[in-house]
Amino acid sequence: MVGLNCERFVDQLLAKELKCGICLDVVSEAVDTQCRHTFCYQCLNQWLCGSSGGQMCPQCRRRLTDDWRTSSGDNELIIGGRVLVDKNRKVNAIVGKMTIKCDYEWNGCPHVCPLDSLSAHIKTCAHRLCPTCGLSTAGQTPDGHNCVQELRKDRIRYLQKYKALKSECISLRSATEELAKQLIQSEELCRDLATECASRAGPEVKPRAMGYNTIARPVCTYSHPNPPPLPFITENSMVRFGTFQTVVHRLVITEWSVRLLKVSPMRDETPIFAEMVLLYGLTQELLVCPDPALTILCLRPKHSMADNINDKLFYISPNNYQMNINSKDPIHKNIVILIHDNMSASVANRLMECYARITSGSMFKIIDRQAAQQLLYGDI
Ligand SMILES: [Zn+2]
Ligand SMILES: [Zn+2]
Ligand SMILES: [Zn+2]
Ligand SMILES: [Zn+2]
Repeated sequence: MVGLNCERFVDQLLAKELKCGICLDVVSEAVDTQCRHTFCYQCLNQWLCGSSGGQMCPQCRRRLTDDWRTSSGDNELIIGGRVLVDKNRKVNAIVGKMTIKCDYEWNGCPHVCPLDSLSAHIKTCAHRLCPTCGLSTAGQTPDGHNCVQELRKDRIRYLQKYKALKSECISLRSATEELAKQLIQSEELCRDLATECASRAGPEVKPRAMGYNTIARPVCTYSHPNPPPLPFITENSMVRFGTFQTVVHRLVITEWSVRLLKVSPMRDETPIFAEMVLLYGLTQELLVCPDPALTILCLRPKHSMADNINDKLFYISPNNYQMNINSKDPIHKNIVILIHDNMSASVANRLMECYARITSGSMFKIIDRQAAQQLLYGDI
């Protein structure tokens, strides 16, 4: 098939008028038969040479010969062995001037031009692809294109692209993991804050007995003539959660809670950067030994708080440390904190006030060194 598809032409109605009777496309190098039928030169030649065609016109089946003569004789041509045809110069001129779309319109080329100048455009078309390797020949002369070289370059480009995408994929994955961690931490912080808010609001809305109806909170700790002893801040305390021992880089005792900041396991060099809040409202007992020789704080959490701590420790611990804060052993249920700094009696008293205000029916006890020793070392 040698003609050009009618749809390639801008004026498709005109293109359909100029179809070859064999290939049904717009006629190319038009020739007329003796019976005045028009075909592409190549289409008709193939037809006449083929066994099915014989020497007949494919359209009207009239026998074609070489013994007729056109008026001028200039256009005569013998094809298919011995058939005389006439070049149709007028049709060829019209087809050559018809506006056609570029061969690479499908690849985005918007160029249209007369058919006669199409081949010149194709040579420099920026959307041209090499018919052998299928790669773009933009910016290259037809002779300057080397398929092997181009395929090598293309492979390198794809490898670079692949590497870039792979590293982007890895960084996106780690960003996702980081965000997921942050989300979990934020949710936990929200939960803690909500619990703390609830325990703060409770006693104020509903003043209780024991003479702790309203305890004024310090407005500004810096300008207070007698600064209240809380918050009490100390560093490198040792903490036992059941059988799990850790160092807490910073410990803050406030009027609502004991905050553990930067927990790091004793058995591991890797610190676990975590903040844990032990709310008084969620404990059933608080024992304090303010003896400078052995200052300890012992909290016995309610069951739900123990679960919370277990969950949190499990989450923050990279090695999934085993904790048995829910152990049936009553000593294991305690959270024992050994404080290295001297905690004065006024801190202990203030703590007692706060604890009593927040936890009705819970036990606060000041204990002596011997009881503290029992709590701290009794089980080891
Ligand atoms: Zn044809
Ligand atoms: Zn015919
Ligand atoms: Zn083009
Ligand atoms: Zn190529």
